Amino acid sequence: MKDYISDRARLIDASGIRKVFALAETLRDPVNFSIGQPHFDVPEKLKEEAIKAIKTGFNKYSQSAGDSSLLEKIAKSVQKETEWSKPQVIVTSGVSGGLLLAFMSLINPGDEVIIPDPYFVIYKHLTTLVGGKCIFVDTYPDFDLPVEKITKAITKKTKLIIINSPCNPTGAVYSQSKLKALAQRAARDNILILSDQIYDDFCYDGDCPSIASYYENTILLNGFGKSYAMTGWRLGYAAVSEALKPLIEQMTKIQQYTFVCAPTPFQKAAIAALDYDVSTLIAEYKNKRDIIYEGLKDSFEIVKPQGSFYAFVKAPGGNATKFAERAITNNVLIIPGNVFSEKDTHFRISYAVTDEKIREGIKILCSLV
Ligand code: PMP
Repeated sequence: MKDYISDRARLIDASGIRKVFALAETLRDPVNFSIGQPHFDVPEKLKEEAIKAIKTGFNKYSQSAGDSSLLEKIAKSVQKETEWSKPQVIVTSGVSGGLLLAFMSLINPGDEVIIPDPYFVIYKHLTTLVGGKCIFVDTYPDFDLPVEKITKAITKKTKLIIINSPCNPTGAVYSQSKLKALAQRAARDNILILSDQIYDDFCYDGDCPSIASYYENTILLNGFGKSYAMTGWRLGYAAVSEALKPLIEQMTKIQQYTFVCAPTPFQKAAIAALDYDVSTLIAEYKNKRDIIYEGLKDSFEIVKPQGSFYAFVKAPGGNATKFAERAITNNVLIIPGNVFSEKDTHFRISYAVTDEKIREGIKILCSLV
């Protein structure tokens, strides 16, 4: 059997994060700064809702677009956030599911997708999988939204601009004025914006504005995995204004032939999740952000993260892969920047671990400078 793997599959690499995660298994009680999920468990109330849904028979397929009560509830919440009069919604298998459906519905071979660098790695690989072309726009060294550079990157082939605020891996949160400026520029050429807002609850220094409030040609993606620590429940959603209704119809059609629907009992639990207050947990995460920033700022070049639960730190000597190898040998798992970037100068810390582990990790990292 020769050459039976598709060219498409060969074009992309396995996730570098998973490789480090696998390494973690070989170490004894490491400081694991590698994986992007909260360290707390799903709140009891939401677990009970999922169990209740299973016990009362919500175990079959839902409609492809999602459970109608959940769709209604999401639409209301999106309406409040964006002031769109009639948000159109689909429930997806995680934000990853929403991204795949959106890319399959939007991108033709040769279409250009503008991606601020560093980026969440799935954007790059999905663009490649569907035949699009990634146009990376450098956001170093402050990681703020580079509106002018994005403007320069726009061509006749630009189909989509991706933004992710709060950002994985940098922790940047984009300001209202930057988002408005980008919205104005995109409106001039009717370019779509995809706004991945999966970390919008993890916002520590004020509001986390959404570009969807200023631009109706936005595809808003959000999910339940991070806010309620239910990454394994595979739940997210995509929402658009009525102007983009055909997109949700196409995504729903492709969902029928791929995921079919998001997991039904968890969709029932998600209805309760939308009313669940996570502010205490977020306050704990703000404190973790402060510990990591205060602990590293005198030894490393680091921009204070304002959201998500990541810090993107400059590697001493400027070679992140080499520094990550040293850190891993010293029992601290970090991810080198080239997993999220065309550069390899920084490393990502996910501080979604106990305060004790954060302190232990800071001590070891500082000893390596
Ligand atoms: N977007 C971003 C920015 C992420 O960091 C992640 C998860 N790491 C996802 C989307 C995917 O989320 P989900 O687990 O809901 O598919």
